[in-house]
Amino acid sequence: MSRRAVVVGAGPAGMLAAAVLSGAGLDEVVVLDRDELPEGPEHRRGLPQGRHAHLLMGGGLTAMEELVPGAGLRARLLAAGAHEVSLSSGTLARTPEGWLRRWRRTGPVMLTCTRALLDWTVREAVREHCRVEVRRAAAVGLTGSAARVRGVRIAAPGGGPETGLDADLVVDASGRGTRVLAWLDGLGLSGVRVRTVDAGLVNASRLYRVPPGAERFPLTVVHADPYAGRPARSAMVMPVEGDRWLVSCGGSRGGEPPADPEGFLRYALALPDPIVGRLISGAQPLTDVHLSRSTSNVRRYLEDAPRWPEGLVVLGDALATFNPAYGQGMSVAAFGARALGRELARAGDAAAPGLARRAVRSAARSVDAAWLTAVSQDVHYPGVRGGRPSAADRVVTAYTRRMTRAATGSYAAASALWDVTSMRTSPARLFRPDAILATLAGPPLPLLAQAPLTPAERRTLRDLDRTGR
Ligand SMILES: Cc1cc2nc3c(=O)[nH]c(=O)nc-3n(C[C@H](O)[C@H](O)[C@H](O)COP(=O)(O)OP(=O)(O)OC[C@H]3O[C@@H](n4cnc5c(N)ncnc54)[C@H](O)[C@@H]3O)c2cc1C
Repeated sequence: MSRRAVVVGAGPAGMLAAAVLSGAGLDEVVVLDRDELPEGPEHRRGLPQGRHAHLLMGGGLTAMEELVPGAGLRARLLAAGAHEVSLSSGTLARTPEGWLRRWRRTGPVMLTCTRALLDWTVREAVREHCRVEVRRAAAVGLTGSAARVRGVRIAAPGGGPETGLDADLVVDASGRGTRVLAWLDGLGLSGVRVRTVDAGLVNASRLYRVPPGAERFPLTVVHADPYAGRPARSAMVMPVEGDRWLVSCGGSRGGEPPADPEGFLRYALALPDPIVGRLISGAQPLTDVHLSRSTSNVRRYLEDAPRWPEGLVVLGDALATFNPAYGQGMSVAAFGARALGRELARAGDAAAPGLARRAVRSAARSVDAAWLTAVSQDVHYPGVRGGRPSAADRVVTAYTRRMTRAATGSYAAASALWDVTSMRTSPARLFRPDAILATLAGPPLPLLAQAPLTPAERRTLRDLDRTGR
């Protein structure tokens, strides 16, 4: 009998899981997506977050490259116009404790491009390098029993009768809006604990043409301050392919950015440093301002479910989503697929007893660090729903504030933060002896009063600025 895996969702989690499964000795790997997938780097309706800035952290990129070996994902993205940005030398970052310095050393990197380019590149790389079939279809439920999932139910286009598609293994990678808990309920499995921590973040984003002369201006970010007892307010100018800037403002409950163009600019100018507003004040907008409110942290503790069926794995946003301000979701999707790959390699067979449960547990472990990072900061914002700072959060907060302060003038402290931000290492890196020492010593160099611009960048900023500052 033919052996098949079915993956629901052709986002990064689904395509990377399909890549892993294509090497697992199955006859067929079928990826279902309810959306019409474009034949190029274009925005699509089923991915509303695609209009917003998406940073791909270095750790996530490395995982993606490992999952599709030989495809040269990084090289493809760069060839298509993505930017590789060094956190240490290529970024202007204003933290709540002050501006971070720029150092000569490249250090950890991240990749910036539109989400449309990233998804299309990953999809094409997986299609070319792995035996995977992508079909347009919406999954509406699971078949099988509480003991073993045997496939998915598929809605007929146009509303005809549903059909079934059998599978030895089903991977739900259907994203933030997953119906997996209702599907499990339909099989008689309930009792999964869900936690939501919602700071009420609203993201507002707009594309601009990079003004002539500003092509090499660094990625610029004014970070939110989780510790001031005020709503988050932040903004970022990020270079993307096609000589464009993707500009995103983000604000938590009570500090939301508006969707009207004048308000968007005013919002960026009113931040503790107006640099983002000054940069875009004379730039040519290419789109309207788009808003996203799908930003809460949601964790489905599937790994603790009292019973788990054979044949079902859940990855990516379907397992956990994070406040996007921390830029983690796509990397975590890659880590989850990597966890599935490890368990498949260990079991030697996609239908091995206990594999699904082990893969879900392993994927859940790969979520922990990102969850901690996002939730431990979000609980401090006024009006947050679903959490409040614990005693442990307050201790971690005091330490990370002090470390961020040290990072304004110390490479050792800054590089610890960058290693964790770029998801190259776990947050335990913050507690390595060199990082602790640098934190306790404080910044050896004085605080910068302004962004660390080169003379040429200062001239560019002045030339672009239409605010009369
Ligand atoms: C505003 C915003 C900004 C963000 N910024 C960042 C960032 O800077 N860095 C970062 O790493 N992450 C960021 N994220 C998070 C990132 O978007 C997600 O973590 C990522 O998309 C998760 O990938 P996924 O494959 O799990 O889900 P998705 O990318 O959402 O893909 C799910 C797929 O499943 C399909 N689907 C859904 N239901 C069905 C069904 N029933 N049947 C068939 N197909 C179905 C959808 O069409 C879609 O293609 C951001 C999110 C938001 C909202």
